[in-house]
Amino acid sequence: MKIRKNDTVIIIAGKDRGKRGKVRRAIPNEDRVIVEGLNMIKRHSRAGKAARQAGIIDLEAPIHISNVMLLCDKCGRPTRISFRSLADGKRVRICNSCREVID
Ligand SMILES: [Zn+2]
Repeated sequence: MKIRKNDTVIIIAGKDRGKRGKVRRAIPNEDRVIVEGLNMIKRHSRAGKAARQAGIIDLEAPIHISNVMLLCDKCGRPTRISFRSLADGKRVRICNSCREVID
């Protein structure tokens, strides 16, 4: 998974294009992420087991990772990433703009 929890991403498609936010949750088997405060949807619900309260609830909808780009905290640019294996076998992510190790 190229994008992980607590990464900062910028939205590149849809109504929130250009906005940035922090990844609250990554969903690797769907290639989606949930970003704090972005891609909000309204869900109408009635009080029940799942919802404590009836009414309209704002929810963050998962965004496909092809619609976001990682913001590199080293160079500050939205970037694509690649992977590199270190001498100890650990796989790290590399910023394709500045070639710095991201994690
Ligand atoms: Zn960078």
